[in-house]
Amino acid sequence: MKYAIEIKKLSFTYPDGARALDEITLQVGPQEKLAIIGPNGAGKSTFLLHMNGILPPVLDGNASIFIDGLPLNKANIDQVRRKVGIVFQDPDDQLFSATVYDDVAFGPLNQRLSKEQIEKRVAQSLDQAGVATLADRSPHHLSFGERKRVCLAGILACEPEILALDEPSANLDPRSRRECIELVKNLDRTIIVATHDLELVVELCTRVVVLDAGKIYADGGPGDIMTNTGLMAEHGLETPHSLR
Ligand code: ADP
Repeated sequence: MKYAIEIKKLSFTYPDGARALDEITLQVGPQEKLAIIGPNGAGKSTFLLHMNGILPPVLDGNASIFIDGLPLNKANIDQVRRKVGIVFQDPDDQLFSATVYDDVAFGPLNQRLSKEQIEKRVAQSLDQAGVATLADRSPHHLSFGERKRVCLAGILACEPEILALDEPSANLDPRSRRECIELVKNLDRTIIVATHDLELVVELCTRVVVLDAGKIYADGGPGDIMTNTGLMAEHGLETPHSLR
C-alpha cells in the first residue's frame, strides 16, 4: 500500500541543542484523520513542519520521509510542497499580502494556474473558510480567528492532498471553532491535526498518536487512547468529557 506519509527514524535537534524529535517512525494512510496530542513542548509543531521540508531533517543513516510515495529531498521538495499544506499555529507566520484576496491567491498563482482557475479557487476557498466578505481587507487588521480562517483558505486554495493543521481551534470563539470542525470534517483529504482540543479529536479523528519529548508513546483509536487515564496523565493530558 502507498502511504500518504511514511516516516522512518526522524530526529530533529534545534540549533540551540533542543532535541525536538527522537527517532519518529510513523505511517499515515490515505484519507486517514490523525491527531497528534501531547504536552507543550512535545514536538508536535516541529513534527508538522517536517511534513513539507520547512525544517531540514537530520536524515542520517536510515531516516527518511516519503510523502505520497515521494522521498522528501532537495530534488522533490517543490512536488512535496504541492502535496502537503500546513496551516501554522500562528496565522501571522503565514499571512503577508496586502489583502486577504492576494494572500489566498498566492499559492494558486505559484502553481501557474490560469487567471480563471485562480479566481475560481480563491472564491471557492474563501467561501469554504467563511471569509468571502473579507476578501478586500488587510489580513493584519483582522481578528485572530479571522486570520486563522484566511490561512486555512490560503491552504485550501492550493488543493493539497494532505493537510497538516497546527492547533486549528486554538483561540477561536465557540461558533468559529464549530465552523472550523465542520469544515475540516467535510474535507476529503489525509489530515494530521496537532491539538490540545481533545473534543475536536473525538469529533474529527480516526487515530491518535501521543507524542512526548519527541517520542511516540501510543498510537491507536481515539476511544482506546484517550480513555486510558494512566497513559493520558503520564503525558500531561486528560480524558475529554465526552469519553468519560
Ligand atoms: P509542541 O508543538 O508540542 O508544543 P514544539 O515542536 O513547539 O512542541 O517544541 C518541541 C521542542 O523544541 C521544545 O523543547 C521547544 O522548546 C523546542 N523548540 C521549538 N521551536 C524551537 C526553536 N525555534 N528553537 C529552539 N527550540 C525550539
